Amino acid sequence: MPAYYRNALAFNEMLLSFYFVVCFALIGISAHQWDWEPVAFFVVTIVVLLNGHKMNARINSVAYAAISIAWCWWHNEFLGWHYSGHLLLLPVVLLVFFNIFNPPWFKIAMCAALFAFRMVLFSRSMNAVPVYTLGHTAGIVAQTVNSITLFGILAADAILFSSSIQDTERKLRLDNQELHKEAGTDPLTQLPNRRAMINTIEQFRKTNPEEPFCVAIADIDFFKKVNDTYGHNCGDYTLKTLAELFRKNAGQDYIVCRWGGEEFCFFLPGKNIDQAWNVMFDLNSAVKKMPLKYEENEFSITITIGIEENDFRSPMEDILALADKKLYMGKITGRDKVVM
Ligand code: GH3
Ligand code: MG
Ligand code: MG
Repeated sequence: MPAYYRNALAFNEMLLSFYFVVCFALIGISAHQWDWEPVAFFVVTIVVLLNGHKMNARINSVAYAAISIAWCWWHNEFLGWHYSGHLLLLPVVLLVFFNIFNPPWFKIAMCAALFAFRMVLFSRSMNAVPVYTLGHTAGIVAQTVNSITLFGILAADAILFSSSIQDTERKLRLDNQELHKEAGTDPLTQLPNRRAMINTIEQFRKTNPEEPFCVAIADIDFFKKVNDTYGHNCGDYTLKTLAELFRKNAGQDYIVCRWGGEEFCFFLPGKNIDQAWNVMFDLNSAVKKMPLKYEENEFSITITIGIEENDFRSPMEDILALADKKLYMGKITGRDKVVM
């Protein structure tokens, strides 16, 4: 059983114990009857409260319900309906509904049973005179004590239950955000992946249908050689270092993702093809100058880039395919260039 449920039970039992002592004193002082029964209720409740942490929470909740039901009966027989003692049944309904192990049919059945029980109490109070008669002031005190106890229990339980639900919700939302981020992130370079990039571009197209933009695809030249010469780990190091350079140079110019393998895709919102070419040309130059050093091996790489501008008609795949075609043109005409 969740901790909030155990805490609610413990709080309710603590407040009830105190309440039974007050009732004992009130009846004693007002009706001159030092009745042992509220004391018995107090003792039983204290025993349950003190053993609550060792007890199975379900047994604890049954004990709490039994104490409440027995008290409502006793209160009705001895003090009558008028002081609202029977309303201490309401927290039992709340606990039945917030018990995660209770199936829906049980919750409804318990609710109906408690309702029926309350009606029985009412009909008994109509046909019988209570054992004790409280004076005017004691009556006001009894009603006040019953109401404070009821509202205290209901408020505490509501706070415990609702804050736990909100905590769970908040945690779920954060986990969800984390998962969402992970699903859209390339684990090697920590850049967005192809899926995240397509989402970003589609979103931009939807919200800025009139706005120009370009896409560019970059591919490392002779990357296979890097792997073959220095090893696969060096290839990974190269991809990570290159991704870092792309990220550092991005500014407001572009969003970059790992398109797959040793290919990267750039989204340049608001840029026409000439502006995009300038950005990509600078990036191409920066890559050439980027020093790479892995286990005493110093080397450098170049990239080839193909750029395509949005034509406001074609589907996204066609625009990307055209950028890819230009990349291919760059490859077969010598590499290390930006084709538009
Ligand atoms: P080109 O200039 O024509 O692009 O030549 P290339 O050697 O770069 O092209 P090719 O497609 O033949 O080789 C790409 C290589 O990239 C092959 C593959 O092993 C390597 N590669 C793809 N993903 C990774 C990765 O995550 N890590 C490493 N180390 N290598 C990768
Ligand atoms: Mg490739
Ligand atoms: Mg390549």
